[in-house]
Amino acid sequence: MRLRFTARALVIGDRAGTVVPDGVLDVEGGLIRWTGPAAEAPDAGGAERVELPGVLTPGLVNAHSHAPMVLFRGQGEGLPLDRWLREVMWPREARLTGDDVETAMTAASAEMLGNGVTTSVEMYFHPERIAAAVGVTGARAVIAAPLIPLPGLPPLDEQLAGAVALATGAPDDGTVEYGIGPHAAYTVPLPVLRAAAEAAREHDLLLHLHVAETATEGAGLFAAHGSSVPALLAAHDVLGGRVLAAHCVHLDDADLDLWQEYDVAVAHCPASNAKLASGVAPLRAMLDRGIRVGMGTDGPASNDGLDLLADVRLAAALARLAGRSATALPAAEAFWLATGGAAEAIGRRDLGVLEAGRRADLVHVDTRDLAFEPVGDPRDLLAHLVWSGGGRHVADVWVGGRQVVRAGRSTAVDVDALRAEVVARAARLARG
Ligand SMILES: [Zn+2]
Repeated sequence: MRLRFTARALVIGDRAGTVVPDGVLDVEGGLIRWTGPAAEAPDAGGAERVELPGVLTPGLVNAHSHAPMVLFRGQGEGLPLDRWLREVMWPREARLTGDDVETAMTAASAEMLGNGVTTSVEMYFHPERIAAAVGVTGARAVIAAPLIPLPGLPPLDEQLAGAVALATGAPDDGTVEYGIGPHAAYTVPLPVLRAAAEAAREHDLLLHLHVAETATEGAGLFAAHGSSVPALLAAHDVLGGRVLAAHCVHLDDADLDLWQEYDVAVAHCPASNAKLASGVAPLRAMLDRGIRVGMGTDGPASNDGLDLLADVRLAAALARLAGRSATALPAAEAFWLATGGAAEAIGRRDLGVLEAGRRADLVHVDTRDLAFEPVGDPRDLLAHLVWSGGGRHVADVWVGGRQVVRAGRSTAVDVDALRAEVVARAARLARG
């Protein structure tokens, strides 16, 4: 099927922040075939026309999420981190079933699509049920099968073998991709991390782990080995290949040198880092070194939203505060961190930018709203997207050219029914 989109403007999703007023975008076979100004568009032929009053942007890419945790949203608010984990999160997670994960992911995926997020990197239990959920909503996911030593779970070597089997058996259609998700260096032993990294490199899989989220989590490893977590990961052959490290709040210059040397990508999660008082990651320093960075929401128990545009705004605000400069992170670069930059960070250059050859993951933001006025220069639209826009302005979403959100509603699932199911399951998990 061929589609011709016309829009008030195309926001391309590149680092420079290109905005094409009065834009046209052609789609065929799930891919973008042409983009540019209407005045230069080729003959539309028999393409079906989609005329949009607002702007068309790339589908947003959420580089770090545990979306099924919508089951725990807001629970234990105000507790210190250790009590929140021990008293609220872990007891509930110990009771989780595959059905809980699939239902919660279906609801969360619909919520993300409604906010313009078409791809998310997920790390959570029952990865095959996460895949089933996005199969229903029509989203894409990169699912890092978790490796974590917990009572009731198989030994880590079995978990790793299961993750590799899942990844190598999945169809290669760009919809669901599996990776390997060892939780972190302070929870997963170094030899397991090394084996996971070796397997990831062998099969070209994403290796996704948490690094330096808090100031104290590396203390035990430092006491035992005398080096920082990044240095330990390098020494144990964990780096190299497609490595995506979430958070990276507490890295010094030597750690950043290693990230640069091994081309480690970062999932930047400022809302979670703020809510849990973890700190502010050195975003500007990472970008200046050419380190690949993508925006992440983190799980909805520690954000608590799944509205990536809100995280983009927070990232820009915090980078400016930290750098004491209104130019520390321009709106264009902030938006790129959730589109083209995020696609690079997760190693998926088929996503994130409106350009010919990439997948037709498209978001129509309805700009008939005071939040998007005035527009003196077309690039004001991009500034408004970052500083006054949000998921609430997303009207329509396509994934691979297929419409999955129409006028703000999922075309695939009954969001109200899903909410009722999440409510009932959350109550059961809380009761025990
Ligand atoms: Zn996380």
